[in-house]
Amino acid sequence: MATAAAPRVYKNFINGEWVDSRSGNAYENRNPANADELIGMFVSSNAEDVDLAVDAAKLAYQKWRLVPAPKRAEILFRAAELLVQHKEQFSKDMTSEMGKVLAETRGDVQEAIDMTYYMAGEGRRLFGQTTPSELPDKFAMSVRQSIGTCGLITPWNFPMAIPSWKIMPALISGNTVVLKPAEDTPLSSYNLVQILTDAGVPEGVVNLVSGNGPNAGAPLAEHLDVPVVSFTGSTAVGRLIAEACAPEFKHCSLEMGGKNIIIVMEDANLDLAVDGAIWGGFGTTGQRCTAASRIAVHKSVYHDFISRFVARVKKLRVGDGLDPGIDMGPCINEQQLKTVMDYVQIGQTEGAKLLTGGHCLTEGPYAKGWFHEPTVFGDCNPKMRVAQEEIFGPVVSLIPIGRLEEAVEVANGVPYGLSASIYTRNVNRAFQAIRDLFTGIVYVNAPTIGAETHLPFGGTKKTGNGHREAAIAAIDFYTEWKTLYIDYSDKLQRAQIDNAE
Ligand code: NAD
Repeated sequence: MATAAAPRVYKNFINGEWVDSRSGNAYENRNPANADELIGMFVSSNAEDVDLAVDAAKLAYQKWRLVPAPKRAEILFRAAELLVQHKEQFSKDMTSEMGKVLAETRGDVQEAIDMTYYMAGEGRRLFGQTTPSELPDKFAMSVRQSIGTCGLITPWNFPMAIPSWKIMPALISGNTVVLKPAEDTPLSSYNLVQILTDAGVPEGVVNLVSGNGPNAGAPLAEHLDVPVVSFTGSTAVGRLIAEACAPEFKHCSLEMGGKNIIIVMEDANLDLAVDGAIWGGFGTTGQRCTAASRIAVHKSVYHDFISRFVARVKKLRVGDGLDPGIDMGPCINEQQLKTVMDYVQIGQTEGAKLLTGGHCLTEGPYAKGWFHEPTVFGDCNPKMRVAQEEIFGPVVSLIPIGRLEEAVEVANGVPYGLSASIYTRNVNRAFQAIRDLFTGIVYVNAPTIGAETHLPFGGTKKTGNGHREAAIAAIDFYTEWKTLYIDYSDKLQRAQIDNAE
């Protein structure tokens, strides 16, 4: 009688080797579109594993920081090339563990490719400043210096893109890293780390510990030999990370929740706005930090917008993201599906008008997954919970608005500040909105999603703590400035402040 093959156990990567966790435990990674499909077992790490990974990273840092940045860049270039070669397989792996449709997981891997090439390019830049000194025969400049071991803690919704946003700038700047990926999507991090290893990253420079937040993430954030912590995830956990970093004054970058908005003015191209609202609201099943979960529509076009938008939402095909023709995959897990169902209930209790959707899908092809109908609430008051709180699922709240000033007040009237968008053909209004929306990202005539790797990414208020990912802004986070004064006058020259008459 044939016996089923034992599932593959994916290990930690510490000091250049794939190793078991000290606990000896492992957990299941299952396909959210089909819970019967076991993707693999991943080891459950604890503080001991984190210690080993940090020790390896600390030791490796002594050599890696001295490797010339253009040489570090050559390894990143090779990694980018390898990612290109493996893009299709990694995209399929990602859809299997995360659920978003293949076109979107290809985009996720592409973002990792773009970030890797971009940061490799930085290896020949990493610019500082040269500037005149206020004194004669004196030279002044600033250079960047690496910091040490970086603890990187990532969410499940961009399983390869977000780890790459953190790993690549950290490495090119001369730091070493320990990555703790989200428990729901460890395979994509495994793939990324394997590629970096194949590209020639020396042992100990990149380390991976899988496991859950409290057991593996918390010891990493708290570790005394980890001076830099970069976290992307929920605002509630971000606060814990900030508290863990505060006693040692660590560099701490937090990218957290969002409640993003699309504003549709009366002069907007409505077809374009509907396209944007569909993509922004239901792309990645609404599980993007930049998802357009609120749409504020001018009263004069509100009913027209609703009928076009709801007709399109009803046509969205929900299913397994690996099937061609599917527009929207499942929620990431049972808990997230429950959160969505709870908010649907909350919206109805609050008096929001359910225009379409509102149910989880459990029959036929949906029986083994965490599927929910794309759902739209109309006539929302901006203070309702469905219009204030991050749901992180396929639920969009429509809010009727009047003047632009009112729309901006609604847009800014939430605890978060990641992304906002306005559809208008009036250039004066567009610039007024750009000026007054207090978010990290503003789009004009495009939805709230669509970040490019060479521009800063992040948000205000409870979305972030003032740092940005991607672009040069990321290099700023992973380096310290060192200011140099070189006096070649051969005499004591006092600075101007000490020479005052
Ligand atoms: P989460 O906060 O539950 O988990 C994020 C990571 O933190 C995971 O790796 C988790 O294991 C770890 N973690 C959990 N508890 C921890 C603890 N006590 N100490 C240390 N680490 C811990 O978030 P999630 O559910 O994975 O992701 C969804 C959230 O991420 C949403 O709020 C979304 O808006 C946010 N997000 C933000 C951005 C952004 O750039 N602003 C991007 C993507 C996702």
